[in-house]
Amino acid sequence: MRDYAIVLAADLPTPEDVLSLVKRVGDVVDGVKVGEATLLQGGVAVLQRVRDLTHEKPLLVDLKIADIGFLADTGWHGTNGKIIKSLEDSGATHVTVHGFPGPLSVAEAVAKARESSIGVLLLPLMSHAGAKLFFSRPLVRDDVIDSALKGGLDVRFPEAASCKDVTDGILLLGEALGVEGYVGPATRPEELQRYRTITDRPIWCPGFGRQDRLGRSLGDQFREWAMIVGPRSAAIVGSTIFGAADPVAAAREVVSLRDSATENH
Ligand code: C5P
Repeated sequence: MRDYAIVLAADLPTPEDVLSLVKRVGDVVDGVKVGEATLLQGGVAVLQRVRDLTHEKPLLVDLKIADIGFLADTGWHGTNGKIIKSLEDSGATHVTVHGFPGPLSVAEAVAKARESSIGVLLLPLMSHAGAKLFFSRPLVRDDVIDSALKGGLDVRFPEAASCKDVTDGILLLGEALGVEGYVGPATRPEELQRYRTITDRPIWCPGFGRQDRLGRSLGDQFREWAMIVGPRSAAIVGSTIFGAADPVAAAREVVSLRDSATENH
């Protein structure tokens, strides 16, 4: 994936709408994100149809998986693995997974995704208003480590990283379990800064445009995002592109804002 990638969140009502949007802007953006609604309507076959239009570009399936992990003597037999297995050879390159169901759920997702060459992006926080209600609840590092050990996981947690709340705990889990990267809120620069004190992995960031609650222009939002997260990152942009009168022109504008925000990096 290219540095500072622009990933289109193709959140349109039907799979046909999604495909016709991707046909128009797939060449302009650096990747595509397909949501659960599209998958429920179109089945996994829709993913290959997107991939046929975007070729080698990343295709993120935003399932926000949050089911159980179950480790038996014969391997992983929870539901997270079964969900991920159903994406095997579908064209999906990345999938989003929740961290709050705990170490076994994340570990199973990472293990099964690796078998299918899919990267797990973990969600330590979300971008919408109210997301901090639960993610900011206190959590101590020892409880995260104990839970992983009790689950039978033999993993190393980063030495230096401290843990004060659920967001930190999920970041610690992601580091220990080797996720490919994280989803982080472009609406909360101070939180992205916090991610970067714990991880060097890619951070894919939604929340540009309509979700911004800091009164920033789109250009300012891109500049602040790029400065904090650095090149190993992606901007996930939805309605700013597909809600525009001319989505192709809007996608080009987003790419050019990204280019000016990152030209000196
Ligand atoms: O239209 P907009 O650019 O706000 O779309 C953002 C996309 O990113 C949506 O598909 C939304 O589900 C997704 N997303 C998010 N916050 C997260 C994870 C995904 O906004 N934490």
